[in-house]
Amino acid sequence: MAKFYCKYCGGKFSSISSLTFSNCPRHPDGPSKGRHVLYEGSEKKEYLCKFCGSKSSSISSLTFSNCPRHPNGTNKGRHQPAL
Ligand SMILES: [Zn+2]
Ligand SMILES: [Zn+2]
Repeated sequence: MAKFYCKYCGGKFSSISSLTFSNCPRHPDGPSKGRHVLYEGSEKKEYLCKFCGSKSSSISSLTFSNCPRHPNGTNKGRHQPAL
């Protein structure tokens, strides 16, 4: 079964259309201010933040916390998984 993840919150979906259909609670513009966005990388055992290199076992736990090296400023956004 195909699995698709949102790169902002790690939400898991069975299709891209269902992923992009609903709002994302961790959208960078604010909670539910935009829709989930597809994570285009492959499924991994460990995800790295592309800004600071933080490691996490899932996208949802990685994107749970703010990133000290976020491009918008220190802790101005969440970690984002590298592809
Ligand atoms: Zn999302
Ligand atoms: Zn980070």
